[in-house]
Amino acid sequence: MMREEAPLPDEICPVTCPVCGENQNTLPGDFDPQAEPFGPVHCMVCGHAFEQAEYLRGLETRRRELDSLSGPQ
Ligand SMILES: [Zn+2]
Repeated sequence: MMREEAPLPDEICPVTCPVCGENQNTLPGDFDPQAEPFGPVHCMVCGHAFEQAEYLRGLETRRRELDSLSGPQ
Protein backbone atom coordinates (compact mmCIF):
# COMPACT_ATOMS: atom_id res chain seq x y z
CA MET A 1 0.00 0.00 0.00
CA MET A 2 1.11 3.49 -0.69
CA ARG A 3 2.10 5.54 2.25
CA GLU A 4 2.66 9.22 1.92
CA GLU A 5 6.16 10.17 2.80
CA ALA A 6 6.88 13.08 5.03
CA PRO A 7 6.00 16.01 2.84
CA LEU A 8 8.97 17.69 1.33
CA PRO A 9 8.31 21.39 1.33
CA ASP A 10 9.52 21.76 -2.20
CA GLU A 11 10.61 19.85 -5.19
CA ILE A 12 14.26 20.08 -5.90
CA CYS A 13 14.85 22.40 -8.77
CA PRO A 14 17.55 24.82 -9.75
CA VAL A 15 17.23 28.23 -8.20
CA THR A 16 18.31 31.56 -9.54
CA CYS A 17 21.81 32.61 -8.61
CA PRO A 18 21.78 35.97 -6.83
CA VAL A 19 25.13 36.82 -8.35
CA CYS A 20 24.80 36.02 -12.04
CA GLY A 21 21.09 35.35 -12.43
CA GLU A 22 21.49 31.92 -14.02
CA ASN A 23 19.34 28.97 -13.00
CA GLN A 24 22.05 26.36 -13.04
CA ASN A 25 23.07 24.75 -9.78
CA THR A 26 25.34 21.89 -8.91
CA LEU A 27 23.74 19.71 -6.25
CA PRO A 28 24.98 16.72 -4.30
CA GLY A 29 23.47 13.42 -5.44
CA ASP A 30 21.22 12.90 -2.43
CA PHE A 31 20.54 16.55 -1.90
CA ASP A 32 18.01 17.51 0.75
CA PRO A 33 17.61 21.26 1.25
CA GLN A 34 16.48 20.72 4.84
CA ALA A 35 19.48 18.64 5.80
CA GLU A 36 22.28 19.87 7.99
CA PRO A 37 24.91 20.60 6.95
CA PHE A 38 23.42 22.20 3.90
CA GLY A 39 24.45 21.40 0.39
CA PRO A 40 26.90 22.15 -0.91
CA VAL A 41 25.02 23.88 -3.68
CA HIS A 42 27.00 25.93 -6.13
CA CYS A 43 26.15 28.00 -9.13
CA MET A 44 27.37 26.18 -12.20
CA VAL A 45 28.08 29.43 -13.96
CA CYS A 46 29.88 31.67 -11.48
CA GLY A 47 30.62 29.22 -8.66
CA HIS A 48 28.58 31.06 -6.04
CA ALA A 49 28.04 28.87 -2.98
CA PHE A 50 24.42 29.07 -1.86
CA GLU A 51 23.51 29.37 1.77
CA GLN A 52 20.57 27.33 2.95
CA ALA A 53 18.27 30.29 3.52
CA GLU A 54 19.28 31.72 0.19
CA TYR A 55 18.55 28.46 -1.60
CA LEU A 56 15.18 28.02 0.10
CA ARG A 57 14.23 31.58 -0.75
CA GLY A 58 15.23 30.98 -4.34
CA LEU A 59 13.24 27.77 -4.38
CA GLU A 60 10.14 29.63 -3.20
CA THR A 61 10.52 32.17 -5.94
CA ARG A 62 11.23 29.51 -8.51
CA ARG A 63 8.22 27.46 -7.56
CA ARG A 64 5.98 30.47 -7.82
CA GLU A 65 7.35 31.05 -11.30
CA LEU A 66 6.80 27.43 -12.27
CA ASP A 67 3.31 27.46 -10.79
CA SER A 68 2.39 30.49 -12.78
CA LEU A 69 3.68 28.77 -15.92
CA SER A 70 1.85 25.50 -15.45
CA GLY A 71 -1.27 26.98 -13.88
CA PRO A 72 -3.19 25.58 -10.94
CA GLN A 73 -3.45 21.81 -10.77
ZN1 LIG B 1 26.02 32.41 -10.49
